Amino acid sequence: MEQLVPFRQFVLKVHSRCDLACDHCYMYHAADQGWLAQPTVMSIQTAAWAAYRIAEHAKAHELRQVHVVLHGGEPLLAGPVRLGQIAAALRDNLTGTCALDLRIHTNGVLLDESFCDVFSTHGIRVGISIDGDRAANDRHRRYSNGRSSYDRVIRAIDLLRAEKYRHLYLGLLCTIDLANDPVAVYDALLASEPPRIDFLAPHATWDSPPRRPAGAPAAYADWLTAIFDRWDSDGRPVDIRLFDSVIRTTRGQRSRTEAIGLAPSDLVVIETDGSYEQADSLKAAYDGAPATGYHLLRHCLDEVGGHPGILARQAGLRGLCEECRRCPVVASCGGGLYAHRYRSGTGFANPSVYCPDLKKLITHIGSQARPATAPHSGPGRVHALTAADVAELAAGYGGRGAVGRLGQAQRSMRRALVATVYQRASADARIGRATRERLTSAWDLLAHVERQAPDALESVISHPYVRAWAARCLTSLGAPASDGHPHGSDLEYLAAIAAAAGIRAGINARAEIATADGTLYLPSLGRLAVPGPDGPRECTITTTAAGTVTFSFGAGWRAQALASPAGLRFCEPPPPDYWQPARRLTAPGISVVLEDADPYRDCHQWPAAPRCSSPELIRWQHSFRVAWSLIAAQLPAYREGLVAGLATIVPLAPSADGRDVSSAARQAFGAVATALPADPAMLALLLLHEFQHVKLGAVLDMYDLFDRTDSRLFRAPWREDPRPLEGLLQGTYAHVAVVEFWRARYLVGGPHAAAAGPHYARWRAATAESIETLLGSGSLTPMGQQFVRGMRATVTPWLADRVPGMDG
Ligand code: SF4
Repeated sequence: MEQLVPFRQFVLKVHSRCDLACDHCYMYHAADQGWLAQPTVMSIQTAAWAAYRIAEHAKAHELRQVHVVLHGGEPLLAGPVRLGQIAAALRDNLTGTCALDLRIHTNGVLLDESFCDVFSTHGIRVGISIDGDRAANDRHRRYSNGRSSYDRVIRAIDLLRAEKYRHLYLGLLCTIDLANDPVAVYDALLASEPPRIDFLAPHATWDSPPRRPAGAPAAYADWLTAIFDRWDSDGRPVDIRLFDSVIRTTRGQRSRTEAIGLAPSDLVVIETDGSYEQADSLKAAYDGAPATGYHLLRHCLDEVGGHPGILARQAGLRGLCEECRRCPVVASCGGGLYAHRYRSGTGFANPSVYCPDLKKLITHIGSQARPATAPHSGPGRVHALTAADVAELAAGYGGRGAVGRLGQAQRSMRRALVATVYQRASADARIGRATRERLTSAWDLLAHVERQAPDALESVISHPYVRAWAARCLTSLGAPASDGHPHGSDLEYLAAIAAAAGIRAGINARAEIATADGTLYLPSLGRLAVPGPDGPRECTITTTAAGTVTFSFGAGWRAQALASPAGLRFCEPPPPDYWQPARRLTAPGISVVLEDADPYRDCHQWPAAPRCSSPELIRWQHSFRVAWSLIAAQLPAYREGLVAGLATIVPLAPSADGRDVSSAARQAFGAVATALPADPAMLALLLLHEFQHVKLGAVLDMYDLFDRTDSRLFRAPWREDPRPLEGLLQGTYAHVAVVEFWRARYLVGGPHAAAAGPHYARWRAATAESIETLLGSGSLTPMGQQFVRGMRATVTPWLADRVPGMDG
C-alpha cells in the first residue's frame, strides 16, 4: 500500500474570467474549456469550505506549512473586499494548525493601493505576469481591443517596489516567446528589481508542439541559456526559479517547480465552483483533462489524493516512459512538466515535447554550476572560511582572520562585477562612441594598474560602494532609457575608479571622465567640484610616476596636486575650495573613512546626509573616539573584527522624529551608515549592531545557511510584522551584539547600570526566543544550524544573569 503524498500547494481559482485577452493563455485558448461552466467569482461559502478542507488536510498530515495561491482567470477581478474575506477564511481555519504562505498571481492591471492595503493586512504576496520590455510584453499581453497592458503592469510593479509595499513583492512570471531577445527580456525584468523571476515555457503537447525556428531543435534551451550565462556572469543577482531548480536537482536536492524534477507533485487546484482539479497545465492536453470529479462539499483532500491522475504525477522515475528512464539527465529533468508529455494514443507515456530543450539546458547548467558552498568570487579565485572562522563568526564575533577573509571574498566579487559592467557596457550598442572610448581606456588603465601596482587597485576596490555602483549599472544596463543615452553618467564611475587607481599607483597615465556639472568623485580619494558654466564638462586627469596629478576641464580650468598614501594635496591654484577630500575618523587602533561624497552611498534604508560641515566633523570625531573607547574597554570581543572590516561610516540624515537611524547594505561590505546620535554610547551600539549585518551578509554571499525556497514568515520579537527567514536570521545575529552591549553596560555598574538592566533583560529574552525559532524552522542548512547553535552557545549563559525586577 503506497503512502499518500499530502498536498502542500493549493491553487484557489477565485475568479474565472480575465480582463486581458492574452493569446498565449492556457486558460482560454487551450483544449480544455471548462472555465465556461464556472461561476465568475468564488463565493464566500466556497472559500470557507476550501479553507476548512485545507486545514483538515494539514491537521491530518501534521503539515508545518501550506502554500495557497489566489489565481484565476484574473484574481483581482474578485475585488479587494472578497480577496480579504477569502484570506481571512484561510487564516481563521489554519491558525494553530500550520503556517500559511499566501500569494496571488495576477496580470497586475487592476492593482492599486486598495488591493495592496488588503494584501498587507493579510500577508498576501504578489507575483505579476509580464513578458519583458514593452515590445515583448505587447506581443501577447493585450486587452481584447488590442490595447497594450504594459503601462498598467509597470505601474503595478512600481507600486510593489515602493517602500510601503515592497514586502509584498514576490516576483515576476514571464512566458517565453522565442521572437523576443532573451537578454533584453532578462534586462527588462531585472530593471524592475524583482525578488524572483519565473520563466515559463508556453504550454504544448506532442499533438500541439511548440513552434521552433527551422534548424533550431532546442531553441528554447538556446533562449534560456543566453539568460543563464548572463545571469551567472552577473553574479546571479536575482532568484530565477527554473535555473535554481536545475542546480538543486543536479545536487540531489528537490526542484522548486513542477516543470522539472522527479519529486512527486503536491499541488491541487480548487476551482471557482469548489470542484477539485489537477494542475492547470493539463488544460493544454485535452478537454476535461484536469477534472477529477471530486468536490469540496463531498470529498476531503485525501480522497482527491487517491485520484489516478494525481497519483500518476507522483510516481517519480517509475512513472516515466522507457526513454526518460534511460536518460542521463532524468534526475534533474524528471520528464519535464507532466502536461507536456501528452500525445493522443500514448497519453502521458512519452518524453516531454520540450525534451531536446530540457536535455540541452540541464547539461549546460550542470557544466557551469558552482559547488554548493562556493563563494561568488572572481574568476579563478575561490574563497572559503576556515572551521575556526565559522566558529568565531557563529558565536557572534569574528577576529581579524575571519573578517579579513570575508573582505577578500568581497573584493573578488567587486572585481568580477566591475569586469561584468565593462563587458556588458561594451556590448551595448546604445552606448555612444565617446562613452565607449572612455570606458575602453579606463579598462586599459585598470589592467595596467593591476600589472604595475596591484595594491593600488586593491585599495580602490576596497571602497565599499564600488559594488553598489556595479549593481546599479547591471540592473540598468540594457533597460530602455528615456533619454536615449542609457546610464552614461553611471558608467563614468568606471573611469573614476581607474583614475583613482592610477593616482594611487603613481604611474604615468591618463583618464578622461565626463561630468554632468563639473563635479567628479574619485573613490577612496574625494570629490572635485569645479565651479564653471552649467552643463556637462569633460575632465582629463594626468598622473605621473613622480606623483603629480593634473586635472583639466578643457582649456579653461587646470589644477595640480601631489599624490601620497594620505590622498591628494593640491598645489595650484590655491585655495583648493573645489577639492573635498575623503576625511577620516580616528581612535586608538582604528581609522575609518567618513564617507559623505560618494554618489552611490545613498543605497541604505535611510537617506544619506550631505557633506559634513567642519563643526559636524568635529562632533563625529569626538563621538567616534568615545564610542570606540567604550567598545575597546567593554566589548573587546568585537574589537578585532571591526578593525579588520569596518572601513567606512556614512552619515545619514537625522530622522524627522528624532529616532536613532542606522543601516547596513548587503552591497556595501565594510560600511555602516548612521545618523550621529546624541550619545556616543549609542553610536557604539549602532556600529556593533550594523556591523553584525555586514558580517552576516558577507557570509551569506559565500554560503547557504538556510533553504532559500522557504517563504514562510516568522515572528521576530523586535518587530510588529513577521519576517522571512533571512530577516529573522539577520535580526537575531545583530541582536547578539545588542544584548552584549546592554549586558556590558549593566555589569560594569556605575550610573548607566540601572538603565541598562531592562534593556539587557528584554533583548536577551527576545534573542533567545528567535534563536529557538530559527532552530525549529527545519530550514537551516547544516552550516546554518552550526551558525545558530553558535549564537545559542553565546546567549544561553547570559540567561543566568540576575537582573533585579526583570526576572521571573
Ligand atoms: S530530457 Fe527528455 S528523455 Fe530526458 S528525462 Fe527529460 S524528457 Fe525525458
